Amino acid sequence: MSSPTPASYDAVIVGAGFAGIYQLYSLRKIGMTARVLEAGSGIGGTWFWNRYPGARCDVESLDYSYSFDDQLQQEWDWSERYATQPEILRYVHEVARRFDLMRDIQLNARVTEAHFNEGTGRWDVATAAGDRFTATYVIMATGCLSIPQAPKFPGLESFKGRWHHSADWPAGGVDFKGQKVGLIGTGSSGVQMAPIIAEQADHLTVFQRTANFSVPAQNEPLTPEVLAEVKRHYGERRKLALDTATGHFLIANDKSAMEVTEEERQKEFEFRWRGAGGGFRMLRAFNDLLLNKQSNEKAADFVRGKIRAIVKDPVKADLLCPKSDLPFGTKRLCVDSDYYETFNRPNVDLVDVKADPIIEVTPTGLRTKSREYQLDTIVFATGFDAMTGALTSIDVRGRDGASLRDKWEHGPRTYLGLAVAGFPNMFVLAGPGSPSVLSNMVHSIELHVDWLTTCLSRLRAEGKTTIEASQPAEDQWVAHVNEIADRTLYPTANSWYMGANVPGKPRVFMPYVAGVPAYRKIVNEVAEKGYEGFATA
Ligand code: NAP
Repeated sequence: MSSPTPASYDAVIVGAGFAGIYQLYSLRKIGMTARVLEAGSGIGGTWFWNRYPGARCDVESLDYSYSFDDQLQQEWDWSERYATQPEILRYVHEVARRFDLMRDIQLNARVTEAHFNEGTGRWDVATAAGDRFTATYVIMATGCLSIPQAPKFPGLESFKGRWHHSADWPAGGVDFKGQKVGLIGTGSSGVQMAPIIAEQADHLTVFQRTANFSVPAQNEPLTPEVLAEVKRHYGERRKLALDTATGHFLIANDKSAMEVTEEERQKEFEFRWRGAGGGFRMLRAFNDLLLNKQSNEKAADFVRGKIRAIVKDPVKADLLCPKSDLPFGTKRLCVDSDYYETFNRPNVDLVDVKADPIIEVTPTGLRTKSREYQLDTIVFATGFDAMTGALTSIDVRGRDGASLRDKWEHGPRTYLGLAVAGFPNMFVLAGPGSPSVLSNMVHSIELHVDWLTTCLSRLRAEGKTTIEASQPAEDQWVAHVNEIADRTLYPTANSWYMGANVPGKPRVFMPYVAGVPAYRKIVNEVAEKGYEGFATA
């Protein structure tokens, strides 16, 4: 229903994922009015859309959860080390219920426009349904992985079977029983899905363009004893997490991979692969895996050795081994349960679509340069227009009608990853220019929301209503983000961190790589110095 007069709020928050929900809670706490506009028909953001089989978080549930309310963290029981998508969605719903948030969340409300109105000094926001809002502040809680890359294969419309994208999965699930399934994409989503589809389907063909590194999650149930122990010391665990680069509880080794003997190195890698609990712990096995090529190669060799030991067919094993032009961990590390083991099943094939590219989808399957594959269902796990896609898909206009799309034509530009010069009173939560996807997102979201809520509260106390990043501050921050990234191996990979997965997208390393503690210190100092680099009025 279109509203004739725009509804007026202190803030419009775009997105009802972890960030939007906590922002709403926090603004209410300081007595501000807010409306959350959510494109989906339910809350949860990425956890609402990504309901493909096997979807689970690659950060441990005890860390990938809000810390702002002790009663919540004491009363909620995670069932597994890595929570499944349905469990995370249940958690999000419990948070919304507990804090009575739904009454300020509007579902099925895709924001199409956000324009700064110089006359009123407020933001005018419109949705696809034609609803209009006006607010002093607009807060983009739009997520980093919310715009799926639509499959662009010729002939898709002629396909007589079913096809699905991992990030727009049918709510009722998909039955693969008796089916010949083709899976395109071997990033985190494809790697999680493959073992489950292989179990259900008659046959699974995995179409791999680039082999990425995957490490075992070592997922397991969380026993009542483990939960009780963590809860006894939850505060300490959260504090320790705050002081790690990634904002979650991972024991980091502060030695270089090159300063230890071969035997010690293997022992440490083995400990991380198996004993210490798997997952991202592997990235912290040594302090220079993402800085030093030689150290990185040691980790890469270790994982390649594991792949060859697990996968019995040497041709498949060779194909699954990432090549030397992809340093370990520079594309998001995949965290799996039985991914490589899946290729030992007689009903699973692997096709190298770098050597034999996909030419088209046919009515009955898929044709590569050399042959045709008969398929009943095609699953696209082809990723996202990451970090910037959700923002540039909205017509955002700041001062003088300047468009954010134009401003970010050569890559995202922010001050502290929080604000954009020329776009007063607009904030971005946990997006480009901040630790974001290189950290525990929930932690980084809490950091941003707390910082912003304090900022808005202080402005109000000073009788001010406007805050805007200055151009020099933004320029310096962008230069700093790039300079720090260039000290690492990250920019060498064609990753979505670099925008390299979207044809035509500028190649810029988007997240801030210096780590959460360094970042937190900077943003807190900026606040202490009266919001240095911002103009307020
Ligand atoms: P992704 O990492 O971008 O992987 C996309 C895959 O599709 C890549 O293997 C890519 O190959 C392939 N691909 C894309 N276009 C293709 C084409 N035209 N032909 C053949 N192959 C094509 O996307 P994702 O797996 O959805 O994961 C994205 C991010 O979401 C993850 O990195 C992670 O941060 C997050 N995520 C997290 C979890 C978790 O928490 N466990 C689960 C899923 C996703 P190339 O490598 O050659 O481009």
